[in-house]
Amino acid sequence: MNKEKVYFGKEIEVMFNSDVCIHSGICVKGLPGVFNLSKRPWVDPDADTSEAIARHIDTCPSGALTYKRLDEKNSTKKEDEHA
Ligand code: SF4
Repeated sequence: MNKEKVYFGKEIEVMFNSDVCIHSGICVKGLPGVFNLSKRPWVDPDADTSEAIARHIDTCPSGALTYKRLDEKNSTKKEDEHA
């Protein structure tokens, strides 16, 4: 069963899969304003820039944390869009 949770931010969505996490603590040590286990929810995707959050998630050793950049998606051309 997939235990992935999604945390919605204005510019980035952060996905966390607890089944995959190896509890290295890199996320909470590196960006404690965004990843804080004493807060609920423990991920605040609006607490830093989407760039900083994405770069930090790239260092997650297990792949438990992933993200979707909404700011980049918005700049992608949409084929069906009419003027
Ligand atoms: S950095 Fe990744 S593996 Fe480490 S505690 Fe955070 S989510 Fe888990």
